[in-house]
Amino acid sequence: MRIRTDALVLGGAGFLGSHLCERLLSEGLNTACIDNFSTGRRTNVSHLVGRTNFQAIHHDVRLPFRAEAPLIFNLASPASPIDYQRDPVGTLTTNVIGAINCLNLARRNDAVIVQASTSEVYGDPVQHPQQEDYWGNVNPIGPRACYDEGKRSAETLFFDYRRMHHLKIKVIRIFNTYGPRMRLDDGRVVSNFIVQALKNEDMTIYGDGLQTRSLCYVDDLVEGFMRMSRSPDGITGPTNLGNPVEYPVLHLARMIRDLTGSRSRIVHLAAAIDDPRQRRPDISKAQAELAWHPTVHLEEGLRKTVRYFDRVLAKANTAPEA
Ligand code: NAD
Ligand code: UDP
Repeated sequence: MRIRTDALVLGGAGFLGSHLCERLLSEGLNTACIDNFSTGRRTNVSHLVGRTNFQAIHHDVRLPFRAEAPLIFNLASPASPIDYQRDPVGTLTTNVIGAINCLNLARRNDAVIVQASTSEVYGDPVQHPQQEDYWGNVNPIGPRACYDEGKRSAETLFFDYRRMHHLKIKVIRIFNTYGPRMRLDDGRVVSNFIVQALKNEDMTIYGDGLQTRSLCYVDDLVEGFMRMSRSPDGITGPTNLGNPVEYPVLHLARMIRDLTGSRSRIVHLAAAIDDPRQRRPDISKAQAELAWHPTVHLEEGLRKTVRYFDRVLAKANTAPEA
């Protein structure tokens, strides 16, 4: 298939990728999504398929591919801990070989290329909040390493391609982001807690619940992606994008239980191995270089996400048995 487009989104059928595709289309850009539908779903983009300015292509980014596009976003990678630990070698190879294939494509096209990196490059951070010049604290042989080291290697490749071939790279370090189209069963904290609360099931805290996260609503994140992609050539990142308001996981569970009016109990399970104790982005760089900061408060974002999961669960309950 010949791909000739304004914007190419690798991993475009995932949670973030599908919102990004929508936004690009809404700005009048012809958009193509390439995805192997491993952790993403066709249904995330099915409402876009059929438009003349959108294409969804089934392909694994570990295999080289050809396309003509001046703007490329690389989001292809499992992102939830249960997803990326299910096939650790696949996660690492997707992040490394996928990045090389993307970078070669960008080189052939002289394209702007945006990499979806992650706050996980900081590991279990000793510096708090995390600034971009912090080199991190990652266990290279633990169960999270396939993802953390995969993303770190991808960053290395991006900057090497910049030094060697003068590529127009943009590296974004994304902090925990949530919103509609997360999978019910993706295992991440927001989807787990909301689904458990809506079903009045036990809400599962891993460990003492005092570990913290800073949660960004998906629309804010996508705005950051757009601003980064349009920034001057000298702005390469790495740039933190996330919401700097930090909460303990236990606080989040109580908040979601209250918002949903749930009768769920909050229970404590074993802590996850190598689980970062604290995470909060310092977003001064994004504020200064992109004039970006999140605008959606946690409660507002959670209400929208609860409404989404409510609809999905109601649909699942009324679906006829196969
Ligand atoms: P997601 O799992 O919903 O999306 C990832 C997409 O990549 C899926 O559609 C999946 O099918 C696709 N994919 C995976 N391996 C592939 C391969 N080998 N070839 C082609 N497609 C492949 O996850 P998400 O939350 O939307 O995350 C998107 C990107 O943002 C990821 O790169 C992730 O590491 C990064 N990120 C996300 C968050 C977050 O909080 N959501 C935080 C930090 C970084
Ligand atoms: N977590 C939890 N219960 C769950 C899911 C996650 O207590 O059902 C915790 C997890 O241990 C971590 C935080 O919530 O401390 C965020 O987990 P998530 O998987 O969403 O993302 P991470 O930041 O670990 O990549």
